[in-house]
Amino acid sequence: MNGAPLIVTAAALIDRDGRLLVQQRPEGKSMAGLWEFPGGKLEPDETPESCLIRELEEELGIATDAACLAPAAFASEALGDRHLLLLLYICRKWRGTPRALEAAALKWVRPVELHALPMPPADRPLIGLIEALV
Ligand code: C5P
Repeated sequence: MNGAPLIVTAAALIDRDGRLLVQQRPEGKSMAGLWEFPGGKLEPDETPESCLIRELEEELGIATDAACLAPAAFASEALGDRHLLLLLYICRKWRGTPRALEAAALKWVRPVELHALPMPPADRPLIGLIEALV
């Protein structure tokens, strides 16, 4: 392992029907084509919550705040020679309609449908936990 862990935050956005938002990684990025929970890398001076609020705005054009982010689960995965720590929050309240500003596509899925989606290795172990929580 090389250096400090790479901390990545992600959100399970849940709508009123209990569906979850996933986004497809675009061409040109690592793991292109895979479906992930929206989020991204923690930058210096950010808290996990401020990171996730920024990422949701950049990636989906939605606004939320820390009070609407509930820590739900984490995953720990090797990523090349780095160690990735993925922090997943549940979010049920936001302002705006999510748009694919950076992703190739967005879709709302039932928790059970996550099992059949190709997802990055760090996201996969979170599926069962999310199913139990939704
Ligand atoms: O999107 P970006 O490339 O900035 O993400 C940083 C790293 O976190 C990538 O290696 C990406 O695969 C990983 N990631 C993940 N699951 C997510 C979001 C990002 O494994 N839900």
